Amino acid sequence: MITRSADVVVVGSGASGAVAASQFAEAGQSVLIVEEGPWVTSKDISAMRPSESIEKVWRGAAMTAAIGVGDSPIINLTMGRCVGGSSVLTGGVCFRTPGHVLKVWRDERRLTEYTDEHLEPYYQEIERICNIEEVPVSMRSKSTTLWGLGAAKMGANLVSNKRNTKGCDGCSQCNFGCPKGAKQSVDLNFLPRAIAAGAEILSDCEVTRVLTKGGRAVGVEGKVKGPDGRRSRVKVHARRVVLAAGGAHTPLLMLKSGIGRRSKQVGRNLTLHPGFRMMARFDDVVDGWKGAMQSAHSTTWEDERITLISVYVPPAVVVSALAGFGPEFMERADNLRHFAMFGGMIHDEGGGRIRRGPGREPLMTYRMSKEDRAAVPNIIRRLGEAYLQAGARELYLPILGHAPVSPDEFRTMDLTKVPARRLECTSQHPLGSCRMGDEPSNSAIDGNGKAWDLDQLYVIDGSIVPTSLGVNPQQTIMTLALRQARRMLDQPLPEA
Ligand SMILES: Cc1cc2nc3c(=O)[nH]c(=O)nc-3n(C[C@H](O)[C@H](O)[C@H](O)COP(=O)(O)OP(=O)(O)OC[C@H]3O[C@@H](n4cnc5c(N)ncnc54)[C@H](O)[C@@H]3O)c2cc1C
Repeated sequence: MITRSADVVVVGSGASGAVAASQFAEAGQSVLIVEEGPWVTSKDISAMRPSESIEKVWRGAAMTAAIGVGDSPIINLTMGRCVGGSSVLTGGVCFRTPGHVLKVWRDERRLTEYTDEHLEPYYQEIERICNIEEVPVSMRSKSTTLWGLGAAKMGANLVSNKRNTKGCDGCSQCNFGCPKGAKQSVDLNFLPRAIAAGAEILSDCEVTRVLTKGGRAVGVEGKVKGPDGRRSRVKVHARRVVLAAGGAHTPLLMLKSGIGRRSKQVGRNLTLHPGFRMMARFDDVVDGWKGAMQSAHSTTWEDERITLISVYVPPAVVVSALAGFGPEFMERADNLRHFAMFGGMIHDEGGGRIRRGPGREPLMTYRMSKEDRAAVPNIIRRLGEAYLQAGARELYLPILGHAPVSPDEFRTMDLTKVPARRLECTSQHPLGSCRMGDEPSNSAIDGNGKAWDLDQLYVIDGSIVPTSLGVNPQQTIMTLALRQARRMLDQPLPEA
């Protein structure tokens, strides 16, 4: 058994854990960050093919999913598992929390402090440190430009995204780790700051339980993988425990540790932003991978709970998603340069749940609300119609096993009749499964991230976000982590 001690132990080194750990360390506290995944550098990543990145730094080689309950699709839920967490895999897209979402937090969740003005200094600090900048129109891929042209004919807008990048020249590899170190993920800013201030990272170490004593969190227990692949038990004694293991794994760890019985809210209220993508084939060459992977989005259909956003993954990955077999497939693969792609997500109401599963991973279920389910045909319709307006001659729908369709076929299809089990749905945004609130009956933690059930246990990751956002969440998560960390520093640490 390896034994360590620190003032604060932070579980998870992703977007939230890195931000918070840097604050504690810079304030003079001794900090140990425990991360289940391996330590990979930009140099390691630049040497990996996408398939290797999926195997080495994506959780469960990207095969993790939430099981659809009732009239809901299976949702392939992907997450990072490495030092830097999912932050290493993002498309870099950054949004401040929309004002109308904060209003819901104040009015319905009674989190009265959460106003634009209150969050402004935290937003600005994150934007400065992560170099959040607008993507110039010149970096839009042809795949995005074509969609925008078609959308304009439908009266829709296309707005440039902001991203955490410095010197990006657009190679569309973002989701597999930036090979050039241009994406300013937390392994390039907040983690080095934490280390410079004395924090340590214990990688390849899975925390299996929060240790408690007399109504207080006093550390964590886990198993660390040595260079020979053998696992040793680790115990970390700490005066404060901060959970930053992400929206799927923090609730799992709390449930495994028997925490959250009072509120009964741990693992409930999971939202996912169910996402869909559309591919379109054009007569002209598109070369959709040339340009920023995610450069622009459309807000036109927000009232229908839909945000549409550009995306184009590396060609090897696009090929693996093409429909068909044998010569038909080969013909499509040979013509990959003619394919465009655009995506979108639903601003969902939730209905997901995290439970303990039989193995390492949580059992995740998701029941789509009637309103969210009704948004699915609309999202597919909007995505496809914009490409048809731009001159696409064939569409590849997010429907498993479906053959490509012509413009006429698409326009006469009744998309409401597609069964949920055939929808190809993905998510990268698990939120809300330990949501914050004003009382234990409606939340797992209070408005400053403190667990209702246990002294000195704090949660700061995506699981605390009280509702779905309708936009990509990393900036919200980092902003909340910064705020909660500063609040924690106002609370003296207990005696060891
Ligand atoms: C492919 C992909 C693309 C994305 N693109 C965008 C984007 O463009 N814009 C955006 O805003 N968001 C994006 N996201 C989402 C964004 O990355 C996450 O919302 C954000 O990183 C979540 O931060 P977090 O701190 O909650 O969790 P994470 O960043 O996921 O960090 C959690 C960490 O905890 C570790 N961990 C889990 N359990 C344990 C345990 N028991 N012991 C020790 N360590 C543990 C994990 O290995 C992981 O490293 C994307 C996500 C993915 C996967």
